[in-house]
Amino acid sequence: MTKKSKKKTWDLVPAPESTSHVNIQSEYGLFINGKFQKSKKGKMYDTINPANEKKIAKITEATKADVDTAVLAAKKAYDNVWSKMTGAERGKYIYRIARILQERAREFAVIESMDGGKPIRESRDIDIPLAANHFFYYAGWADKLDYAFPNQKIKPHGVAGQITPWNFPLLMAAWKIAPALATGNTIVLKPAETTSLTTLLLAEVIQEAGLPPGVVNIVTGHGPVGAHIVNHAKVNKIAFTGSTGVGKYIHNALAGTDKSMTLELGGKGANIIFEDAAIDQAVEGIVNGIFFNQGHVCCAGSRLFVQESIQKEVLKKLKHRISTLIVGDPLDKNTDIGAINSNKQLKVIKDYVKIGQKEGADMYVGEQVLPKKGFWCAPTLFTNVSQSHIISKEEIFGPVLAIQSFRTVAEVIKKANNTPYGLSAGIWTDKGSKLFNMSSQLKAGVIWGNTFNKFDPGSPFGGYKESGFGREGGMHGLADYIKT
Ligand code: NAP
Ligand code: MG
Repeated sequence: MTKKSKKKTWDLVPAPESTSHVNIQSEYGLFINGKFQKSKKGKMYDTINPANEKKIAKITEATKADVDTAVLAAKKAYDNVWSKMTGAERGKYIYRIARILQERAREFAVIESMDGGKPIRESRDIDIPLAANHFFYYAGWADKLDYAFPNQKIKPHGVAGQITPWNFPLLMAAWKIAPALATGNTIVLKPAETTSLTTLLLAEVIQEAGLPPGVVNIVTGHGPVGAHIVNHAKVNKIAFTGSTGVGKYIHNALAGTDKSMTLELGGKGANIIFEDAAIDQAVEGIVNGIFFNQGHVCCAGSRLFVQESIQKEVLKKLKHRISTLIVGDPLDKNTDIGAINSNKQLKVIKDYVKIGQKEGADMYVGEQVLPKKGFWCAPTLFTNVSQSHIISKEEIFGPVLAIQSFRTVAEVIKKANNTPYGLSAGIWTDKGSKLFNMSSQLKAGVIWGNTFNKFDPGSPFGGYKESGFGREGGMHGLADYIKT
């Protein structure tokens, strides 16, 4: 199924990752109180592989009653066990999760790519190792909270309700579960409906690590399951990653309650290239910024700003680089761009592409031949784009880049900040002084210098404005799970 580009730069023999070591159950129940259990009334639904539309497994749609049972289990575990345990003891459990994840890394990577459509190279080299590293990192903090918050009396919130999106399923679960456990909270987590498998596998890991029953509970299903968690009276904190639309709903739902919340929402990141940058590296950075994970990245560099003097050169190199990208089988180790996560998301992307054309922008689409089955989108560039174009304002969440030019530093800062979002930005320049000046003026939670999409458990991540509030990662990530 690996695509054959019409304009081939080189031919690569398919190198599919083996699936023989992968053990997927035909059905998954809800993980409540340390056990997988059937819903009393809930239905099952299929999770499919977006690269071939084949069913992978059946997942349970939790009911409100199931969410109640899960929250009750979490509350009991908090009151009777987890809140009484020392940080050092909690840390041991979290280390165990990290180690088992590492041992099962290959299996997790394959399932993440099958269920979500992302290239195996990314799930193998980024998602899974980074998820394990988050558990290692926060395991280390569990017995050192007094050093993280000196001279303060701190307390966990209690039961944390956590809701994750489909673009980095296991990684987002790790970002949420690890700091919550380290600080002594118990958890009810809902993964996204299209990509629940690795979170359910993580439940197996949690079982294997011997966590006391009820400390982590996983309830699967669609949006309303998330809403039940949000509105549950016994949930003390909500941590949500997803769209700004649902984030606003949660914000409203929690107004006037004493629940604490963190919201990690959408973005429209600016990738800014100056004429003094190392152009070839910058072109790689643009490709990584928007085509990485099919552009299903909240912090994607989906707006490119190129200094006018180098616009021609950058565009030429970018188009050439795009022609060499391999779109196809996510399990093939050569693949650069995998499948779009769902048909629904593919439609959203296609609609934006139509809007871009209607708005009068010039479009360039990679000439890759796309597989017939599954959900695919070739890498797409728009030039001749202005600030008022919808494609330069709204989050597309696909491999679609809107390109604009600029002349001066002041102009590009104004343009880059002209967005309701404020999650990420990238700056490419040879001058350190320019980098520091720019990074203090760009309104974005994360700013990369001469690189893009780099993550580390020790580094906090989060947004400004409509990209949300609160931080995940680093010491900052602990603060959102405690009361002082
Ligand atoms: P989404 O539609 O907002 O869904 C996110 C999660 O919320 C899913 O688990 C979803 O369940 C659930 N949900 C839906 N309706 C809900 C409700 N009324 N109450 C509570 N939960 C509800 O977002 P998505 O489409 O999965 O993810 C893409 C978005 O996430 C993009 O906008 C992206 O920028 C953002 N994102 C942000 C970050 C960040 O760190 N800032 C990271 C990753 C993604 P279902 O899946 O079953 O609908
Ligand atoms: Mg799936």
